Amino acid sequence: MARLPQLVVFDLDYTLWPFWVDTHVTPPFHRSRDGVVSDSGGKTIRPYPDVPAVLDHLQGLGVPIAAASRTGEIRGANQLLDLFNLSRYFAYKEIYPGCKITHFERLQAKSRVPLSQMIFFDDEKRNIVDVGKLGVTCVHVRSGMNLHVLAEGLERFAKA
Ligand SMILES: [Mg+2]
Repeated sequence: MARLPQLVVFDLDYTLWPFWVDTHVTPPFHRSRDGVVSDSGGKTIRPYPDVPAVLDHLQGLGVPIAAASRTGEIRGANQLLDLFNLSRYFAYKEIYPGCKITHFERLQAKSRVPLSQMIFFDDEKRNIVDVGKLGVTCVHVRSGMNLHVLAEGLERFAKA
């Protein structure tokens, strides 16, 4: 079996869902009885379609999952993870503004996983550059997280 990372870390905005939680949608969010999530203006919001399958796959492999987001809308981001029924997948959540180097230093301290054994998915090049300096395998996500991007990332990690 291929060498697996010991921690998989995801950005949130434009990596797990197609919007900026601090500007494009308006908290508080709400989930209807049929499971549809909307913002306070009534706009329906969803994660990228493959996201539950991506997280399920990693859970099946036994790889712990973390979130690392620089958003200022901390409460809204956490609420969305809950309402999308995704919180249960995350062993660690580092959600606050600042440079992502801080997020990863804290993830390392909490998980005790070496940075070289982590893989990170993010849509923003500057985060990839910052976190890449730490020795984390970084994958630039161009149009949202999906199973194909996950497979490519895991393959790159295994070969590194
Ligand atoms: Mg992002």
